[in-house]
Amino acid sequence: MLHTSDKGFPQDDAFDIIKSIDGIEVTLDAPLSEWTRFHAGGAADLLALPSSKENLLELMYLIRRRSWPMTVLGHASNVLVADKGIRGVTVMLSPRLGRIRVEGESLFCEAGAPLYEVAAFAARYSLSGVEFACGIPGSVGGAVFMNAGAFDGSMADVVVQTTYIGEDGKLMAVHGNEHNFSYRHSCFADKREAVILETKLQLTREPAVDIYGRMADFASRRYATQPLSSYSAGSAFRRPAGYFAGKLITDAGMKGYTRGRAGVSSKHAGFIVNHGGASAQEIVQIFLDVRRAVFERDSVRLEPEVRLIGEWDKNPFET
Ligand SMILES: Cc1cc2nc3c(=O)[nH]c(=O)nc-3n(C[C@H](O)[C@H](O)[C@H](O)COP(=O)(O)OP(=O)(O)OC[C@H]3O[C@@H](n4cnc5c(N)ncnc54)[C@H](O)[C@@H]3O)c2cc1C
Repeated sequence: MLHTSDKGFPQDDAFDIIKSIDGIEVTLDAPLSEWTRFHAGGAADLLALPSSKENLLELMYLIRRRSWPMTVLGHASNVLVADKGIRGVTVMLSPRLGRIRVEGESLFCEAGAPLYEVAAFAARYSLSGVEFACGIPGSVGGAVFMNAGAFDGSMADVVVQTTYIGEDGKLMAVHGNEHNFSYRHSCFADKREAVILETKLQLTREPAVDIYGRMADFASRRYATQPLSSYSAGSAFRRPAGYFAGKLITDAGMKGYTRGRAGVSSKHAGFIVNHGGASAQEIVQIFLDVRRAVFERDSVRLEPEVRLIGEWDKNPFET
C-alpha cells in the first residue's frame, strides 16, 4: 500500500520504485544549491538522473501513470529554485544523457549534452553554426527550451527537429518553424509537460581553423566582460525593446550593488550574483531592487530571463 507523505505524493515509495529502474540515479531530498548555477534554493523531494532514452521513457511513463508531480531541469543554469524546494520528482537531463552523433552535416544531440561539448564536437568535424554556443553553460534541452543565443547566433538558426516526450508519455517531434522560436522563447515554454529528448542541428561545412578562430574570439570576449567565476544564471533580465538591460542598470547606479549575500556584478551589470550562501529570497530581492531603480530612472520595466522553479508562495515578480 503506497502511503502519501506530507509532501503530497508518496516520496519514499516513489524513491524505491524509481531506484529499481536500471540506469537511473535517484536521490531523496537532494539539495539543489549543489546543482544550480546560482548555488541557491531548497531541496528536490526526489532528484532523478536518467542515463538513456529508454530509462527516461520508463520513468516518464511511471510518473504520468501515478500522477506524481514532475519538474524537468537541464543543467540548472537559468533557474532560481525556491527556498522551499521542489515537490515531487525532479527529472534532471544531465550529461549522463548526453550522447552526440554526426550524420553528414547534421548533429543529433541528446538533451543532456553540454552546449560547449556540442560546439567542440561540431568544430572537430569542421561543421559550423554552433560556435556562438561554445561559452553558454547548460544543456542542449535547456538551450532549445530557452532558444539560447549569443553573438548574433541562436539555437533558432540551427535546430531543425526536436524529439520530446509529450503529456501522455509518448514520443513526439517538432520540425522547423513548429519550434516557434523567438527571443529566448520556443514552443516548449507552452508545452508544460514536455520533456525534450533529442535535437537535430543542421550545420554547414567550413575549415576547422575558421571555426576554432571564431570560438576563441567569442570565449575571450565573454571572459573579458562576464563574471564567469561568480554564481549567477547569466543575464538576469530579458533585453527590453530598444534598450540594453546592463546599461539601464548601470545608469540607475546599481552596478556592483550589494544587499546581504547577493548583489549585482561589478563586472557586468546584467548579472545578478550570489556572493556565497544567499537564499533564493535574497536573490529575488536583488531582482526587485534593480527593477525598482531602473523603473524610477527610465520608466522601463525589466522582466526576468531567469525562470522560477519549485514551491514559491507567489510569483515575486508579479507585483
Ligand atoms: C555565466 C552564464 C552565462 C550565460 N550566458 C548565456 C548566453 O550568452 N546566452 C543565453 O541564451 N543564455 C545564457 N545563460 C543562461 C543559460 O546558460 C541558458 O539559458 C541555457 O540554455 C539553460 O540551459 P540549462 O540546461 O541550464 O536549462 P535549465 O536552467 O535547467 O532550465 C531552463 C528552462 O528549460 C527547461 N528545460 C531544461 N531542459 C529541458 C528539457 N530537456 N525538456 C524540457 N524542458 C527543459 C526547464 O524546465 C527551465 O524552464 C548563461 C548562464 C550563465 C550561468
